[in-house]
Amino acid sequence: MSGKIALSTWPTPLEPMPRLARALGLGEGDLWAKRDDLTGLGGGGNKVRKLEWTVGGALAEGADTLVTTGAAQSNHARLTAAAGARLGLDVVLVFPGTPESATGGSGNLVLDGLFGARIFWAGDGEPSTLAQAAEDVCEQLRREGGRPYLIPFGGSSSLGARGYVDGGNELLVQLPEVRHVVVAVGSGGTMAGLIGALGEERVLGVHCGAVSEPASAVAGFAGGLTGRSVTPGALRVRTDQVGAGYGVLNEPVLEAMRTAATLEGIVLDPVYSGRAMAGLIQAVRDGDVRRGERTVFLHSGGLPGLFGHAQTVHRCVTALHGFKAV
Ligand SMILES: *Cc1c(COP(=O)(O)O)cnc(C)c1O
Repeated sequence: MSGKIALSTWPTPLEPMPRLARALGLGEGDLWAKRDDLTGLGGGGNKVRKLEWTVGGALAEGADTLVTTGAAQSNHARLTAAAGARLGLDVVLVFPGTPESATGGSGNLVLDGLFGARIFWAGDGEPSTLAQAAEDVCEQLRREGGRPYLIPFGGSSSLGARGYVDGGNELLVQLPEVRHVVVAVGSGGTMAGLIGALGEERVLGVHCGAVSEPASAVAGFAGGLTGRSVTPGALRVRTDQVGAGYGVLNEPVLEAMRTAATLEGIVLDPVYSGRAMAGLIQAVRDGDVRRGERTVFLHSGGLPGLFGHAQTVHRCVTALHGFKAV
């Protein structure tokens, strides 16, 4: 069975974003950031709340090794590595591609190495190849007498999503009158958990292109979590920020990153939180989010990934402003 463990100090801060609110034509007190980028483990991010449940499950089963999968720049993999380090568990991360294909070996990979995780490169192939490779790694560890525990892609399962029921309930204490929570949708567990706490009406997801059917993924986890049937069609999921695809920088996202950075000093990442902010800005323009409605941007983290994203690094560095001494 599962017992939740503590991997951070809660609650995370809820901070107003008055300059951004004003720039978007909202009231100064309308826009807030729930700072889940500041969760105190391994560089922070939304995966920490899920790991409190999934790693709790691993410990309850007597596991000695955590195994998980994701892209080479996976924030979830990095935080699994950190959780393993904190708890004295071995960690094996199963990534697609080869060491050579992992551009520059920067960003999250730097931290995976620092936390002492082992990496298995699964080569190129269908996404199912990756899942199979993770099963194979577990099988090998068992043959060697180990007790592996497989955490699913993105840490998302109905168990992991419970972390965001916790997060949603925490937010309700901080801002009971919250009308919208805007969140990036990757594997979908974060949005599912928030729905568990806040209901379908108040959660606005922004699809990042990581899965093919985001609303179905979220509805699946939310159904398992709440024990009632959740209809994909009843969910608020924007799909207009995917652009050229998962992980590919697009102009509205870079613009949203600049807006948050220059108006609030908040760093977003090009894959997830920048897309969520671009979706929030568009939702205000569309009238889906209006003046007078308390709106929370769930800052899900991702800063290390920014430094592993060559395209974004290049665009930011070439935009550096000079200062002329006279
Ligand atoms: C994984 C991730 C998300 C998406 O969370 P899911 O629960 O997978 O939908 C959002 N932002 C960041 C920074 C992430 O790493």
